[in-house]
Amino acid sequence: MKIPITGQGEPIDEHVRAFIRSSIARSYDVKSMEFQDNAILIEFHEEVPEHQIRELVKQLLYVSRSLANDVLFDKRITLDYRENPMPMLESRGDIRKVADGMYMMQGTFLKLFRFFDRCVKQMADKYGAIEQEYPVLWPVELYRTINYFKEFPQQVILAATVKNTYQAKEKFAQNYDGQKNYEAVRLEEYMAPSTFGLQSAVCDTCYYLLKDKKDFDNTVYTTYNKVFRNESSQIDSLDRLKNFSVRDIMFVGEKDFVYSMLRELTGEFIGFIETFKICGKIEAANDPFFVNESLYKNIFQATSRLKYEMLAYIPFLDSHLAIGSINNHLDFFGKAFNIRLPDGKYAHSGCVGVGFERLVYSLYCQYGHNAAAWPKDLKKEIDIEE
Ligand SMILES: [Zn+2]
Repeated sequence: MKIPITGQGEPIDEHVRAFIRSSIARSYDVKSMEFQDNAILIEFHEEVPEHQIRELVKQLLYVSRSLANDVLFDKRITLDYRENPMPMLESRGDIRKVADGMYMMQGTFLKLFRFFDRCVKQMADKYGAIEQEYPVLWPVELYRTINYFKEFPQQVILAATVKNTYQAKEKFAQNYDGQKNYEAVRLEEYMAPSTFGLQSAVCDTCYYLLKDKKDFDNTVYTTYNKVFRNESSQIDSLDRLKNFSVRDIMFVGEKDFVYSMLRELTGEFIGFIETFKICGKIEAANDPFFVNESLYKNIFQATSRLKYEMLAYIPFLDSHLAIGSINNHLDFFGKAFNIRLPDGKYAHSGCVGVGFERLVYSLYCQYGHNAAAWPKDLKKEIDIEE
């Protein structure tokens, strides 16, 4: 179908195109999408009424007008490497694909990955963070309390167990005998209703565990874990993964405390970009989202600047990749989990996180597949001597 985008005045820029493209792709099963001067050509794999898409594009264009173009920090570096380092990383064995969006890491890549986790941990230690370790599973109760299914259905990955009856287990075992040929498992027949899922963020369990706390004092936490999203890369690389690794620093307490932590940690991220010679920036985020009512919520998120991203430039794509984020949750979790301050008000919270697969991949994209040939001053910082 052809959706007109006329009457916009100026031609729509690359940011807006990317925003529209990813928002539609997250919500529908898209076959192809192409931007023309004053129209978008879209083909879907599923049945979609044209008026629905016309309305949606209108809304997205409206939202895009308030899209942040708020850059806090911009570090430009002239880079020579312009390739996707992925084939070389794979042929060297540093990265191996397990399945779409799932990879094994070893060697120098993993060494860098661990190094950067230690860096962020040290950042957390400076603020006296309490380290916690959580299961990678979220109970359905957690999803429900923060209304996750309604707002982020495109990211959900639930886990299911076989029904606890002899009949179900026996049938399941028979039908999925390894002798048979199958690539997927049908859930309806044998599986019990799901009561937990794979977490899509590392920090929510922290707030969940503070449920009904009274007289809560300002506290900083940190955690490292795997997160899971229903995504995979268009270019078979580490830019979009089903399973990736994040360290978060979380801070819960008074509003002013949360703001001062956000300020401090934004400063830390700027130092991080400088120290590790990352060509990148810190910019207000315009997350694409599943297009229901949250579309309108996002207008406010975009305008009140609740989320910034640390972005690395990817030369071979001529675009940026988010390697970290800075989030102000206001009192969202305080209210959802009834976390109260000594004065009886709801606690505010915020978090910053760094994703290590993307961070390390970005450095390879910027400086080349051979870490031994990276700039000397960078190698000194990251302790690579090969
Ligand atoms: Zn977080």
